[in-house]
Amino acid sequence: MFFDILREDYHEQHPGVRQSACRRYCQSIFVMEAPPHANTDEQYMRAALVEAVVAREEGDVPIGAVVVRGTKIIGRGHNQRELLRDPTAHAEMIALTAAAAEVGSWRLDECTLYVILEPCTMCAGAIVLARLKRLVFGAIDPKAGACGSLYNIPTDSRLNHSVEITQGVLAAECSALLSDFFAKKRAQGKG
Ligand SMILES: [Zn+2]
Repeated sequence: MFFDILREDYHEQHPGVRQSACRRYCQSIFVMEAPPHANTDEQYMRAALVEAVVAREEGDVPIGAVVVRGTKIIGRGHNQRELLRDPTAHAEMIALTAAAAEVGSWRLDECTLYVILEPCTMCAGAIVLARLKRLVFGAIDPKAGACGSLYNIPTDSRLNHSVEITQGVLAAECSALLSDFFAKKRAQGKG
């Protein structure tokens, strides 16, 4: 129910989004002003969940991310690994690229990235390279997470930049979306 409401909202705000077939298209369509009330971690995480639902509709693992500067969402991304047949097309990478295009610089030191799942090694590396101020994620990923689970790249003091991390925001909703997706996949595999 929760995700159906999100999806309806999303399609109202983003008509034609399902035709998205490339990163550049997504970057241009996803840069938009956040509503004035969207000023808490939970509200931005809900925007990341909306992105995740779009990934699911396109046949990808439902992971979504947004980049926020001040009170404005300046980059959105959802997992497009299958759609683009690109191993680097993770939600975080696409959102960071979109945000950098919006800012006009690779340096995103005033920005916060919201993503529904603990980032992997690649995305955690990109988060440090972008000099991000803060990372907020929902569910932890004990199998591949690089922000506290297997590694903790964003706060590794050997690197030249450290990123503040908040975890567990809307964790129940974020893990439910992912576990439902994988449960359905398994059921389809058996049927
Ligand atoms: Zn990743």
